[in-house]
Amino acid sequence: MSEEKYTLETVLSVKRWAANLFSFTMTRPSAFRFTAGQFARIGIQVEGELIVRAYSIVSSPFDETLEFFSIVVPEGAFTSQLQYLKPGDQIYLEKIPYGFLTLARYQEPAPHDLWLLATGTGLAPFISMLQDFETWQKYRHIVLAYSVRTQQELAYVDRINEIQNIFGENGAEFCFLPIITRDPFAKLNHRLPKLIESGDLEQEADLKFNVESSHVMLCGNPQMVEDTKEALKCRGLIMNRRGVGNIAVENYW
Ligand SMILES: Cc1cc2nc3c(=O)[nH]c(=O)nc-3n(C[C@H](O)[C@H](O)[C@H](O)COP(=O)(O)OP(=O)(O)OC[C@H]3O[C@@H](n4cnc5c(N)ncnc54)[C@H](O)[C@@H]3O)c2cc1C
Repeated sequence: MSEEKYTLETVLSVKRWAANLFSFTMTRPSAFRFTAGQFARIGIQVEGELIVRAYSIVSSPFDETLEFFSIVVPEGAFTSQLQYLKPGDQIYLEKIPYGFLTLARYQEPAPHDLWLLATGTGLAPFISMLQDFETWQKYRHIVLAYSVRTQQELAYVDRINEIQNIFGENGAEFCFLPIITRDPFAKLNHRLPKLIESGDLEQEADLKFNVESSHVMLCGNPQMVEDTKEALKCRGLIMNRRGVGNIAVENYW
């Protein structure tokens, strides 16, 4: 493997959220700089072969360590092994970050309302963005809608509350909307496209999608991304291209 392409980092901590979900932190080389919302390419050796996957960075660009939030795919070449990670283990980190799911991509419309819509581990880039003061200064309203299947999979809730307390004091008005699709008693339990079509998401957020004022970011399951994109287009919103437009997306597979 190319030593020029990767640095070898050390796992510092591991947190298990559910049988199929965990987070971990690792050392960050001082030369590894990124913008909130970007992803890293990380790798592990499996039977002598380096397997590398894209991972959105959870930590903020100002943190000294790197944090990631991972699914476990039982048959997955990478995560079936990564799930056994423990402090002290080593991980390859590609030296450059990637990706354009960043707030810098928006020039028009001007920042006003920011909608961050995630399924599962697609929450990761949004936690990074929310730990950047600039995000809170730029926008008047921030809505974070986070869709999971079960209550157990609803990770990072304490962190989200902490972030709101720290960053929200003098910044944007923040609304956190957890969605639990398999819980009939959850306040919101339909999939994101349906919640947009029905108007329930806007009602809960007390905010309307608006072509003149909304930036909407979608991250996670490709089917959610596709269907949500269509639901938003029906509301008049357009894809963000070359700085102009409302909707920006990242598919995880
Ligand atoms: C830009 C980008 C950023 C990503 N960021 C993350 C991240 O922050 N956290 C993360 O866990 N994964 C992330 N992924 C997915 C990640 O790269 C791997 O696909 C994932 O780790 C599974 O790897 P695997 O080899 O075990 O299975 P793969 O062979 O890569 O995937 C097998 C199948 O597992 C399912 N799957 C893959 N990823 C996920 C997921 N995240 N949630 C639910 N089902 C999934 C899909 O059905 C996929 O076809 C990202 C992908 C991209 C393209």
